[in-house]
Amino acid sequence: MSALIPLPVSPRPHVGVKDMAGSGAALRERCDVVVVGSGPAGAVAAKELAEAGRDVVLLEEGRPWGRHDFVLDPGEALQRTVREGGTRAARGSAWLPTMQAIGLGGGSLINSAICARPPAWVFDRWAQRCGTRSVTLDALVPHFERVETQLEVQPTDERVQGERNLRFKRGCDALGLASEPTWRNASGCLGSAECFTGCRNGAKRSLDVTYVPAAIRAGARVYCSVRAERVVAEGRRARALRGHIVRPPLGEPCGEVEIEARAVVLAAGCMASPIILARSGLGGRSGWLGRDLQFHPGLAMMALFPERIDPWTGATQGYHSLSYLDQGLKLEVLWAPPGVLAARLPGIGHDYQHELRRYAHLAPFDVIAACERSRGTVRPRGGSWDPEIRFELHPQDFALLQRGLGILADICWAAGAEAILPGLHGIPEMLRSPSEAEILRTRRLRPADAIMAANHAFGTTRMSREPGQGVVDELGRCHDMDNVYVADTGIFSGSSAVNPMLTCMALADRVAGAVGASL
Ligand SMILES: Cc1cc2nc3c(=O)[nH]c(=O)nc-3n(C[C@H](O)[C@H](O)[C@H](O)COP(=O)(O)OP(=O)(O)OC[C@H]3O[C@@H](n4cnc5c(N)ncnc54)[C@H](O)[C@@H]3O)c2cc1C
Ligand code: SF4
Repeated sequence: MSALIPLPVSPRPHVGVKDMAGSGAALRERCDVVVVGSGPAGAVAAKELAEAGRDVVLLEEGRPWGRHDFVLDPGEALQRTVREGGTRAARGSAWLPTMQAIGLGGGSLINSAICARPPAWVFDRWAQRCGTRSVTLDALVPHFERVETQLEVQPTDERVQGERNLRFKRGCDALGLASEPTWRNASGCLGSAECFTGCRNGAKRSLDVTYVPAAIRAGARVYCSVRAERVVAEGRRARALRGHIVRPPLGEPCGEVEIEARAVVLAAGCMASPIILARSGLGGRSGWLGRDLQFHPGLAMMALFPERIDPWTGATQGYHSLSYLDQGLKLEVLWAPPGVLAARLPGIGHDYQHELRRYAHLAPFDVIAACERSRGTVRPRGGSWDPEIRFELHPQDFALLQRGLGILADICWAAGAEAILPGLHGIPEMLRSPSEAEILRTRRLRPADAIMAANHAFGTTRMSREPGQGVVDELGRCHDMDNVYVADTGIFSGSSAVNPMLTCMALADRVAGAVGASL
């Protein structure tokens, strides 16, 4: 294992990455460990295994996007770096858009870089559900520390918060609610609020510019535009991984891929790893494969201030409040490209133009909920490598989200807002006073009244102590296989309460140790 120092970011971080895009040639390799997916989980696993002296091949279906490729236009950005061009959604009791990245670095490329450690009770709940008694906060602290140090995780600097984030803090302060700057893997952040479309400033320590280059320096071979499709196994042992080189953006198969390996680590994300296992006929013995999908659904509202906020400046999500975390709610500042947020403004024609003119005075805040009573499934979709996602949002969980909206409204008024744009069907487009906003608490809303989104997803290959209660054991190894591991957020045994990326990386660091020790 490497010394605990921040990973350097070179001006050309993708040197050594082989982008196979569209190649019709076959790719055949032999290695100790093949890692599928280069997101937070896969990049951590690949780098740690390579530095431990293992011969590693890392496969990524997406392309190596660099800071000079990023564009602010949301349509183009979504089409390049987000699965299904950003149109992916879970269906069930609610229509729930959900985004998963496609690209070297996975979600870290387009996320807000928030790195939050869950409180100890999160892991106590996991243990109650799935018997994972060895997965405690104390046991994970060394892994959290390793990741945090190497990614230079630190609180968002006051100087790059911008008025949008500081207004949230002001509102929380006035209500006596604790709030804090988010800790992020974005040292050197300039507060350009562009995390969602990719950091053009090179300030975000996404995994493609940190862990992946470190893996390459340690000898790992990294291939992009390669889709892993099936684990080839004999009895309880995987022998190889098969797939295809793909042609972006639609992913048509070109050349064939076969990687012989002594161990397989699936880190393709919680929507893709269960599909690979299912199509390989593995991991299904317990009946939990692809089940127990959980999300942190979120709802946003816009606050309108008399003063200019210039919301396009400041760290993307620089402040949050964990005051209600034990009740399942997390309150945050939000930002997304104007092309996305402007679609949420009310009115048509002149009315819409009027709202657009006030854009500089708006600030979006959001609430996400742990939704412990809601569950979903991920299944292969006929003829496609994209998943079919079902999710049943429990009415009490939606009521929890609605409660969060009421608290958000209180924060908006306390921050000096003159109006709130709740963006909910059946509620006035603009609420002009705290008494008007009481409707957010008193009106019984249904999921169909709200525009939700859920980008934190986990649980589809959950960890369990007993083989009958989950897909992988407490070290990420498939219960029914000797050398197949899963490292992504699919292995969470329940909600992380806070944003999942740091927990995912700490667990991947732990899984890498187990894989290395097994060889
Ligand atoms: C807009 C947005 C903002 C977010 N903000 C935050 C935040 O601030 N903090 C936080 O903690 N979390 C955040 N999240 C969630 C966080 O990004 C994810 O939880 C995290 O990326 C999950 O990591 P992962 O390694 O499990 O999977 P992913 O990041 O999804 O990585 C999986 C990788 O595997 C690749 N892959 C998939 N299938 C295959 C295949 N068959 N073959 C080869 N490669 C494959 C994918 O292309 C992808 O690169 C956000 C998510 C989004 C979408
Ligand atoms: S806010 Fe801007 S500078 Fe900071 S990490 Fe995000 S994109 Fe980069």
